[in-house]
Amino acid sequence: MSSTDHDADLIVIGLGAMGAATAYHAAKAGLRVIGFDQNEPPHNLGSTHAETRITRLAVGEGPQYLPFVARSHDIWRQLEEATGESLLHQTGGLLVTEPQAIEGQRWEDFAFVTKGIADDAGIPFSIEDPAAVRRRHPHYQIPDRMRVGFEPTAGLVMAERAVAVQLAEARRLGAELRTGHRVDAVNSDGSGVDVMVAGSSFRADQVVLSTGPWIHDLAPRSMTDQITISRQVVYWFEAEDLDEFSTERLPWLMWIAQLEEEYVGIFPSPPGTTPGLKVLGEQFLEVTNPTDVEREVSQDEIDDFYERLLVPKVSGVTPNCLRAEVCLYANTPDDHFVIDRHPETERIMVMSPCSGHGFKHSTALGEAVAQVVATGDSDLDLSPFATR
Ligand SMILES: Cc1cc2nc3c(=O)[nH]c(=O)nc-3n(C[C@H](O)[C@H](O)[C@H](O)COP(=O)(O)OP(=O)(O)OC[C@H]3O[C@@H](n4cnc5c(N)ncnc54)[C@H](O)[C@@H]3O)c2cc1C
Repeated sequence: MSSTDHDADLIVIGLGAMGAATAYHAAKAGLRVIGFDQNEPPHNLGSTHAETRITRLAVGEGPQYLPFVARSHDIWRQLEEATGESLLHQTGGLLVTEPQAIEGQRWEDFAFVTKGIADDAGIPFSIEDPAAVRRRHPHYQIPDRMRVGFEPTAGLVMAERAVAVQLAEARRLGAELRTGHRVDAVNSDGSGVDVMVAGSSFRADQVVLSTGPWIHDLAPRSMTDQITISRQVVYWFEAEDLDEFSTERLPWLMWIAQLEEEYVGIFPSPPGTTPGLKVLGEQFLEVTNPTDVEREVSQDEIDDFYERLLVPKVSGVTPNCLRAEVCLYANTPDDHFVIDRHPETERIMVMSPCSGHGFKHSTALGEAVAQVVATGDSDLDLSPFATR
């Protein structure tokens, strides 16, 4: 497919969750790949850090996502086998929702919506009695009034490790990955795309823009003007007995309150990670950007999260915060992804798995985008994420 005078068949810009996956799958498909990242991925400045990500085969966000997460699980298992790295922990997962969802809230009745999607697709997912869940997992203080859904096939993916493994595999397969290099501009013409990096120009047949929360810098405004960047905080609190919060013993829990800013995600602790219970909230009220965002987490924020949101839900966790980090969401108004060709050229693809639920699909999305670059089409259907 390539013009031999080009530096590459494909240049991937941004090597986080999406770019690492795309570079890996493209190199595996035999494309000549160059990847650029302004940082040293995996790093803690964008959307892909804090050790773990929730994955669920029953994706309540919509049936269009089901093939991607299922394929991603397969690929992570293959990568584990090929590299010896542990990437996916099958913990099971609990969705806890208020019975009276407020109409228009982001997570409205998520356990029931997920149940419907799971049933249609034959994915195991049950609605459980809160008292029975409390007996199995006494640290989870789920009131009787709540609705609880359980997926046994859900789990946690190791985020930075998955990026590192895919970048290492991409390199092994011949990709040239240049980290610490910011791309300043991308210009296409009839026969290729020029990528400008610190005064040098690299030419490729095609370009994938996977710049995460920096999406507005290089992608066309018509595809990105609806995307907002928001600051999210992740905390690790010391547990009285960490073994009780391990991935061997505990499912993850998404606690969906009536107000979206009272959401809490609870992540059991995989071996070899920060020795505490990882928890996070969500907020969409404050919009920011990767340059100006406040990256420090104040003691007031930590104390407020612990007292107001964690203590009523989980026992056995101390107020001692071992670590806290800021991570960035890139959100569309309807929470769905943006994966499409540039409106002015077929040679540039923009991919942003927005809205805090992209990681679980990332390696299959990277595979599909690499297929589109190589052949013009993909095994899995990317059209639900098109912008037009
Ligand atoms: C707190 C938090 C919790 C989450 N929880 C979950 C979860 O449980 N389950 C789930 O499925 N998803 C979850 N997500 C969402 C998921 O992590 C993201 O969808 C995914 O990581 C986005 O990856 P990305 O590749 O788009 O962005 P990033 O990983 O940020 O990668 C973008 C890369 O582009 C590089 N870059 C940017 N501009 C340039 C440039 N001009 N030149 C060169 N390089 C550039 C950056 O340095 C960066 O490395 C969560 C996200 C956050 C923030």
